[in-house]
Amino acid sequence: MSSKRDYYSVLGVEKQSSGRDIKQAYRKAAMKWHPDRNDAPEAEDRFKEVNEAYSVLSDSEKRQIYDRFGHSGLENRGFSPSSVDISSIFNEIFGGGGGSIFDFFSGGSRQRTSRRAGPQKGRDVAIEVNLTFEEAALGSKKSLNIPRSDKCSTCDGSGGMPGTDVSTCSTCHGRGVVQYVRQQGFSRIITEGACNDCNGSGKKIAKPCKKCRGTGQVTKEESIDVAIPAGVNTGSRLRIPGLGELGVRDGPRGDLYVLIRSSTHEFFDRDGLDILLDVEISFPLAVLGGKIQVPTLRDELEITIPPGTKGNEIFRLRGKGIQQKNMKGKVLETGSQFVRTKIKIPQKLSKEQEKAIRALSEVIS
Ligand SMILES: [Zn+2]
Ligand SMILES: [Zn+2]
Repeated sequence: MSSKRDYYSVLGVEKQSSGRDIKQAYRKAAMKWHPDRNDAPEAEDRFKEVNEAYSVLSDSEKRQIYDRFGHSGLENRGFSPSSVDISSIFNEIFGGGGGSIFDFFSGGSRQRTSRRAGPQKGRDVAIEVNLTFEEAALGSKKSLNIPRSDKCSTCDGSGGMPGTDVSTCSTCHGRGVVQYVRQQGFSRIITEGACNDCNGSGKKIAKPCKKCRGTGQVTKEESIDVAIPAGVNTGSRLRIPGLGELGVRDGPRGDLYVLIRSSTHEFFDRDGLDILLDVEISFPLAVLGGKIQVPTLRDELEITIPPGTKGNEIFRLRGKGIQQKNMKGKVLETGSQFVRTKIKIPQKLSKEQEKAIRALSEVIS
């Protein structure tokens, strides 16, 4: 049997609280325990608990059942906590889409619960990069300035002033969490929570380092060279492992996410990996056929316009589109370039041209 806390005490409200009070209490608790804001090892579980409590107490039917029959009453009626859609509740209250782009809810490393107070992976860092059309299509190297946490150089990450004592917390033996045991009827209930003596850090610091205020970390802006593979587009997301924030308790660094924005091109249009180019051809060329030079992404190409070509005819140049490459530079897929004809109609005619066209109109109508 799992021990479940009373939903009212989870949100810190009275049994007769109004819906508005409950919503307000939820807001406060959710902000406090959101794992993106709270580093405590139990934050994620507390955050889920808060959301579960709110999902019940904000629904008058569920609240009634809970008031009368408690947790088991809800379970018997098929309401399981795992069915709580945290992201929709959270977005409803705080406005969707806000907050971090790497939604904690959409999965990823921090979805794992961190009950064991061992090493923990650092947070992910996101950065948006604006690329030209060519940079996105052909790949590029970018130096990105990324603000992220680093070991404090003054205390070498210990959090204590140099020369002062930093020891393992004796309450939690460096684990950062402690177990609370309580007796309920015949069962012993064991829960874990952050150690109050060291705030979950596992360390006892005699004199906190002035530079990092005892956290052992400082935020530094670092320049990192990133190779952006060919074929990315607006909305592409690159994940570069190990370039995020420092881990907790010697855990690995989080990941860096690079979000791509690409600008448009003067004359190329892009559709996935395909490229569309409009070319103007003269009326005599359209009628008689001939050869023209067209630009492609990587070079220039001569193509043949067959006699009798109309406007809006499309010629496909296979393999001349965008190459999608992976992070290692291997080509995964190649698009085509499409060339669409536009017939040039002269707006102003010289005397000579006018004469020729009038002569033409005598023989062609
Ligand atoms: Zn320091
Ligand atoms: Zn401790």
